[in-house]
Amino acid sequence: MQFNTSRRNKVPRYKVSRLGDNKEDEYPFSLQFYLTPPTENISLIEFESFAVDRLKLLKVVENLGVSMIKGTALYNQKLEAELKALQFPYKALLENDYDRRRKDHISHFILRLAYCQTEELRRWFIQQEMDLFRYRFTQLSDELAKKFLAYVNLAYDPVSETEKEAIGSDLRSATPGFNDADITHNVFYLVPFSDSVDLVRVKRVYFYGGYAYVPQQDFLVILMNNYRTRLSKALAITARSLPIIQTDERLQPLLSHLSHAYVGPDYSIEKNIGKISLEQIDALSVKSFPPCMRQLHKALRENHHLRHGGRMQYGLFLKGIGLTLEQALQFWKAEFIKGKLDADKFDKGYAYNIRHSYGKEGKRTDYTPFSCMKIIMSNPPGQGDYHGCPFRHSDPELLKQKLQSYKIPPTGISQILDLVKGMHYQVACQKYFELTHDVTDIGFSLNHPNQYFVESQQLLGGVKEVKKEQRQPENSQPKYSNQKSIATNSTLSSSNTPEEMELEGLEDYFAED
Ligand code: SF4
Repeated sequence: MQFNTSRRNKVPRYKVSRLGDNKEDEYPFSLQFYLTPPTENISLIEFESFAVDRLKLLKVVENLGVSMIKGTALYNQKLEAELKALQFPYKALLENDYDRRRKDHISHFILRLAYCQTEELRRWFIQQEMDLFRYRFTQLSDELAKKFLAYVNLAYDPVSETEKEAIGSDLRSATPGFNDADITHNVFYLVPFSDSVDLVRVKRVYFYGGYAYVPQQDFLVILMNNYRTRLSKALAITARSLPIIQTDERLQPLLSHLSHAYVGPDYSIEKNIGKISLEQIDALSVKSFPPCMRQLHKALRENHHLRHGGRMQYGLFLKGIGLTLEQALQFWKAEFIKGKLDADKFDKGYAYNIRHSYGKEGKRTDYTPFSCMKIIMSNPPGQGDYHGCPFRHSDPELLKQKLQSYKIPPTGISQILDLVKGMHYQVACQKYFELTHDVTDIGFSLNHPNQYFVESQQLLGGVKEVKKEQRQPENSQPKYSNQKSIATNSTLSSSNTPEEMELEGLEDYFAED
């Protein structure tokens, strides 16, 4: 898969293959290897909503994957419920599933564009897509699974009964957990070495003459390996074409936003303003601030100063929990003056930036607090900085010490460090929430520091109404970035309705590998 250099004129080499007259034939299965890019025109609205929904789905897959045992009944049940809610294919044999399968297909390719940009994004995307694929494959009946394998050219020749008998003892000793009866009753397949490396490496199969003798039950390993290889290659190739897509002024802001995307409310509250007093902040920072903000507050109190990244991250968070502009000016000034900064200098320099972040200066943009993804993915802290996400940006030993100082028990610390090691930073933060609030199930998927605060306050019974007032039906952050960027930058006529704005020929963005 790669991007074309001349988008308008090139004839796509891939087309969705139609197997018959029915459009249902385009997607014969409820799962795909996503070998063929979409070839139709879709509206910008649909493009964005598909992408956001798939991102939501992959977030849920990530959360379930680290908080439950994959493949258990509860895991499957929760994943099915999410697929259903987001209108993705959720049952292997569901009829009239064309729209869901189409959404699945297109949304996968859109996120490929957004998540090919860095090694870290690619790794995250592949992991979640793999988990999703594994779930879907295991939902297929044996018959459908067999058909799907044939469809993706992974149908291998079965070992004949005569050969099985001849090599029976070799098969038994090389296939862990198999006795003579298992050898007799199971079908084995001849799989070339290149497709069975993982099984050969861990000595799970009999290997002879360049072929692994794979029992049917181990086919999932082969399949997953194959899927991972294809997906990883496709993402690497897409990444090489990034400079081209970055010239598309309609897509570039959207895709770059998606890779930092937060799919929840933007916490740009107005009604809640003024409900927090400055005297409450110290106590709240311990009880209800997520570690990123707790760390910033502590650094500010100790050093009476924060560098720009910290002032932005913390200042907008405080704005989001309800500090008025006047309170913010008072709060920052009091602290900076303790650090021997001249009051006049504060008024001339720093006060402008605070007013700016409240939309009272410059372009008068009403900035919204940063989401976890934005904090985790952009502007990493340097020497002397305190912004960022401690789960992402702290050295593990320092993080451990920090958690100890927060009185997190040793078992909790090792659970958190394991999650951090697996790069599940937000899930690690959820674990921190559970441990500091003494709950066993956080009951929500953490995506935003202000969400952490609201949920904490609600749980502690402190500021009940905050939750209701803060939540607004917004699915992008910062709130002005997405639709506005598209509208402003779009080469399409401003008189077009959103439904009329079409991304012509999605296939123009993809070509065969
Ligand atoms: Fe802050 Fe989010 Fe990191 Fe938690 S996961 S510390 S809320 S950035």
